[in-house]
Amino acid sequence: MAVQQNPTFLLREVDPSVVISQYLSGQFSYPTTKVVVNSVPVGLVEPVYGTDPQEGLYTVKDKSSNRLVMASTNQNRYNLYKNNGEKMPVGGICEVCGKEFTTQSLGMIMELSRVAIVDQQGVFHTLLEVWMDGCMDSFECALFATRQELSKMSQYRVCADSAERHLHELFQVMHPEQRDTLIPCNDPKLLVNKGGSLTYEQWSNRRHEYRETGHVIAIPAKKEWLRQHYGPSSYLMSSREPMVSKP
Ligand SMILES: [Zn+2]
Repeated sequence: MAVQQNPTFLLREVDPSVVISQYLSGQFSYPTTKVVVNSVPVGLVEPVYGTDPQEGLYTVKDKSSNRLVMASTNQNRYNLYKNNGEKMPVGGICEVCGKEFTTQSLGMIMELSRVAIVDQQGVFHTLLEVWMDGCMDSFECALFATRQELSKMSQYRVCADSAERHLHELFQVMHPEQRDTLIPCNDPKLLVNKGGSLTYEQWSNRRHEYRETGHVIAIPAKKEWLRQHYGPSSYLMSSREPMVSKP
């Protein structure tokens, strides 16, 4: 990638006024032999990224062998999962309502898959593997965030069209007693701490948390974004197809 740069030079231990007065007084002479000056390329060196998709920043090559730089969301949590097997974190601050919470966090669902396992008695069970991105305290906040995300143009979305359907699916698994369907939280801008007029109690009339069922595995996913270069110093991230990196 070509990067424009205006070079500046620092002349150490050289007094320009002395050089000029010496030049004007004829103390310098022109060389009699040809002087060859090797040009030294001056430019910013682009950081070197690896090619491992597990990393936060890495490069891929397209069909024309152009090198593309990919960046990932949720990399810290993803590393914790990859290195220590840690699932979605317990507790945090909800990205939607700003509430501090201590239960298992939820996120926008990047992918949901069913895995069949057999126990020691030979009985089949189904595990739900749910890959999430984000940090929300309740299904209502997760649904609000998912709909906000899905309202964006497809190339800027973190999650796929299936994200809302998968969130309802997970909700039914964890809260089968709920006869009515999951609805999103009120707009968080109504909250006093976000400039609105409602206390948290007035704002949240329904709240369903992540519930441990024994057959759901909530895993942090990372979304990968392609870096696009529109000028010497301006960058814009736009997404590829919604995807999940798995270890
Ligand atoms: Zn929330």
